[in-house]
Amino acid sequence: MNSLRFKVVSEAFAKEPVQVEHPAATTSEYFGCRVFGPKQMAKYLSKETYRAFLCVLRGEKPFNLDIAEQVAAGMKTWAIDLGATHYTHWFQPLTEGTAEKHDSFIEYEGLPGGTVIEEFSGKLLAQREADGSSFPNGGIRNTFEARGYTAWDTSSPAFVVDDTLCIPTVFVSYTGEALDYKTPLLRALHAVDEAATDVCHYFDPSVKKVYSYLGWEQEYFLIDEGLYAARPDLLLTGRTLIGHESAKNQQLSDHYFGAIPPRVQAFMKELEYEAYRYAIPCKTRHNEVAPNQFELAPIYGETNLAVDQNLLLMSLMHRVAARHGFRVLLHEKPFDGVNGSGKHNNFSLGTDNGIGLLTPGRTQEENLRFLTFLVNILMAVYKHNGLIKASVMTAGNANRLGGHEAPPAIISAFLGSQISAVLDRFASASYEEALVFDAARRMQLGLPHIPEVMLDNTDRNRTSPFAFTGNRFEFRAVGSSVGCGCTMIALTSAVAAQLKDFKQEVDSLINKGTDKEKAIVEVLQRYIRESSPIRFEGNGYSEEWRMEAQKRGLNCESSVPLCYDAYLSPSSIEMFAQTSVLSEAELRARNEVKWDTYTKKIQIEARVLGDITLGSILPVATRYQSMLLDNVYKMHQIYPKDKAEILAEPDSDTIEQIANHIAAAKTAVEAMVEERKKANVISDVRARAIAYHDNVLPFFSTIRYHVDHLELLVDDDLWPLPKYREMLFIN
Ligand code: ADP
Ligand code: MG
Repeated sequence: MNSLRFKVVSEAFAKEPVQVEHPAATTSEYFGCRVFGPKQMAKYLSKETYRAFLCVLRGEKPFNLDIAEQVAAGMKTWAIDLGATHYTHWFQPLTEGTAEKHDSFIEYEGLPGGTVIEEFSGKLLAQREADGSSFPNGGIRNTFEARGYTAWDTSSPAFVVDDTLCIPTVFVSYTGEALDYKTPLLRALHAVDEAATDVCHYFDPSVKKVYSYLGWEQEYFLIDEGLYAARPDLLLTGRTLIGHESAKNQQLSDHYFGAIPPRVQAFMKELEYEAYRYAIPCKTRHNEVAPNQFELAPIYGETNLAVDQNLLLMSLMHRVAARHGFRVLLHEKPFDGVNGSGKHNNFSLGTDNGIGLLTPGRTQEENLRFLTFLVNILMAVYKHNGLIKASVMTAGNANRLGGHEAPPAIISAFLGSQISAVLDRFASASYEEALVFDAARRMQLGLPHIPEVMLDNTDRNRTSPFAFTGNRFEFRAVGSSVGCGCTMIALTSAVAAQLKDFKQEVDSLINKGTDKEKAIVEVLQRYIRESSPIRFEGNGYSEEWRMEAQKRGLNCESSVPLCYDAYLSPSSIEMFAQTSVLSEAELRARNEVKWDTYTKKIQIEARVLGDITLGSILPVATRYQSMLLDNVYKMHQIYPKDKAEILAEPDSDTIEQIANHIAAAKTAVEAMVEERKKANVISDVRARAIAYHDNVLPFFSTIRYHVDHLELLVDDDLWPLPKYREMLFIN
């Protein structure tokens, strides 16, 4: 075997699990120990400061410099006790991950050159200047100002990673435009809180606040670091651009929920230990469907915090994996032919007095409230299905969506047969009938005595992108490599706007003299009818559904750059303005970033694919071809012509096949380069992204087809890159 490949493969398979020592303490003892949470505050802040800061956190007091000074002093001492020497504002620019710039705590005590002390002021905690123009900003810097600011999001606690105190912050331009994901998310969460609280008051006037909850599930692949390093495509793009399918992959369904390999188990154990220290409540771990694919899910929490925790977890994954000789692949489709990775966003709303607004109740009133929120969410997803899809669309995720393993690139909602039946009956019933409940005052489900547990256990439809699962919606189209922020902004804003509309419609009926409950029922009945095109219970992977969805007028666009247009549709612009989440200027700037990022991703992949094909694959194929030619030539030297021709036939045949694949691959690479050149001179970002999608991307599959066939033909000993069968099965 090719010596380098042989070396990395055999090394990968010989590795033993790395045993990591953890303190002999229970999880609850170290849970959250690296986060400046209530326990730490109580210890490091004076009683007065602690109380004052709690008022800030509850929104009862403004966060002034005085409180900031006190909190900063306590936080500094706490962080230094944990070994911190630096601090950073930790923010979420419009890239995939988070950004940080570390500053040390030291300052000269007196004159420069003298002794140093550790300093950290309230001002440094609360706000810092960051160069807005060095991050993707979609031209905001031209329209507005280059300077950007980061400011502490007090609702997300600070934490210490290694030697650095990290302070979660928003990132805005000098004039207040959002340059990140956190700012609009906080605005959206505020909007949904306001709108949902208002609607809750129809049922319970004591509700003060409505929280948006998120429980994400993170899928990922692991690969040995040696194999990873030997694959330039994985290294530079996060996915394999070539590679013939392994004879065995996931056909036997033997990986899902299978026994976790010991090396992986050791990694998971340490990852969970780390996560617990950051108060990330990891709950579930298991093997996923594809070989080498795994999943981790925490207990759900308040959306803003859950988004931050997911981002922190992704970076912890990379750090911990390195200690175990692994690389984590968070890309949505690292390997062709096996499932890709997603991030399921479980979403629900709940009140400050502990009521789940998507949990079916026991009484007539509780169930009307449940239906109110369920139907309004359906309506929001129906009205903004194109936008919600755009919010998950990236170059990477496009490789997964619609791939017969993941939700299709069409948004629909699945309710399960019971809830569906309830809605249909409700929509067509008279007012009196609509509110009929059975003897136990439970919702009439058509099947009178279903135990409540059945309701929680709605039949699952894995092909649906947006499925109701008993007390929440599970949005399954989100990509595994990006934060949850972008999607949660679109979803929660749409729900907020919808709840506002609903309130207005119900109020106007009430003002005209309609009884409150009757008004609610009337509006909901209309919504159920109006939003019915979004409901689909069948197989989302089927071709029939595509046709049907088109007929229903759902957004069926699959070109990523064109999907982004949904952000700038009149209904999106109005919805984001109505909820004060994003202005039209911000939306336009963010779309520029989206189109530009798409272009760059495809551009990088195209370059890497061209380089590997021309630089690694074709030379090896040619070398093997000339070995075969040599053999044929020698046959003719030794044997009489007739016999030589017969004996050399298999090799001659292979030579011809190789020659054809080489020629076709080379032609395709050259043509792709030409298309790239043409696309690169287009100055309009949207048009450039479309050109990359329409004219450059299609060459990927052509090139791959020929390269993968060469992989089958060329001597295994010569093949330069680790093969799928070697990368996908950790022992
Ligand atoms: P599944 O097998 O359905 O994918 P998992 O256990 O992997 O389930 O993940 C379910 C996720 O949904 C968890 O993060 C869980 O905490 C979360 N979840 C449960 N109830 C709610 C809720 N009411 N709102 C939001 N998320 C929830
Ligand atoms: Mg799961």
